[in-house]
Amino acid sequence: MSRSKSAESVKVVVRCRPMNEKERAANYERVVSVDVKLGQVAVRNPRGSSPPKVFTFDSVYDWNSKQVDLYDETFRPLVDSVLLGFNGTIFAYGQTGTGKTYTMEGVRNDPERRGVIPNSFEHIFTHISRSQNQQYLVRASYLEIYQEEIRDLLSKDQSRRLELKERPDTGVYVKDLSSFVTKSVREIEHVMNVGNQNRSVGATNMNEHSSRSHAIFVITIECSETGVDGENHIRVGKLNLVDLAGSERQTKTGAQGERLKEATKINLSLSALGNVISALVDGRSTHIPYRDSKLTRLLQDSLGGNARTVMVANIGPASYNVEETLTTLRYSNRAK
Ligand code: ADP
Ligand code: MG
Repeated sequence: MSRSKSAESVKVVVRCRPMNEKERAANYERVVSVDVKLGQVAVRNPRGSSPPKVFTFDSVYDWNSKQVDLYDETFRPLVDSVLLGFNGTIFAYGQTGTGKTYTMEGVRNDPERRGVIPNSFEHIFTHISRSQNQQYLVRASYLEIYQEEIRDLLSKDQSRRLELKERPDTGVYVKDLSSFVTKSVREIEHVMNVGNQNRSVGATNMNEHSSRSHAIFVITIECSETGVDGENHIRVGKLNLVDLAGSERQTKTGAQGERLKEATKINLSLSALGNVISALVDGRSTHIPYRDSKLTRLLQDSLGGNARTVMVANIGPASYNVEETLTTLRYSNRAK
């Protein structure tokens, strides 16, 4: 069975982070091995003698991988297609603590450890500065989905919740979402910093909050150019950069009331996303269940069709994470 067109436009890659200080100190066993050439990840069962479970992906990155390697091999082609007027989405998926934010944002003020978001800023504005006979307009928005509620991270009023609306001509959009025109790397970085600061507003525990919410940085790139016909042509591409909520099982026994409600909603949007991506990859599905969550509805015009998608499944190497690691690999493999 040949893969559908949507399947080719969806890439799933795995990235395994290094052992951290604590894991090394505690002498945890490494259960993950990576074959970069074959694009395979193998996970050993730390107890028992069953053979390792092996998964194959478009690409895999081990603990030695550099941010620039991921950017050049996996993200750059997608951002290039956005510069040509297509939509694109990059997701970081995985258990909390496996490197989603490291992959998306990385370490600020360290060029070598900058993640895909700042690297895309650099890429986009370098492209624009070298272009001739084209006028570009770059706009940025930043929003968060928490418990199926949308918050504009660039708005002055952080208590306000925004609604998803739909218009026959332009499709699904977030009503009243702010967007800022940015003319340089510095300006768009400033927008990102403002949003990041707002993200922690009202969160009693930032780690907990960020592990339960999806953060979406949206860059819209409009390019106008005079064609050979003397007419002005405009093309618009949209890049969605998504740091997903932690994929760990939220429904721990004993969760009740608000906690249980929250847990159910987090699981809902991640499972809806998995269903949408696997339906796209499958190619035979006539129904893509975009409507099942805010996240998938919001990203509908950037998933499938002519849009390109990359999902980075982040995992940890140590034995005590083996169950979550396997869950992440199964989820991403199904998305494949
Ligand atoms: P998440 O956003 O998934 O909860 P983080 O991105 O915050 O996880 O990563 C957890 C910790 O591990 C951070 O201190 C981060 O700097 C570090 N880390 C994650 N991935 C890598 C990597 N590939 N190389 C080096 N350090 C990493
Ligand atoms: Mg994070």
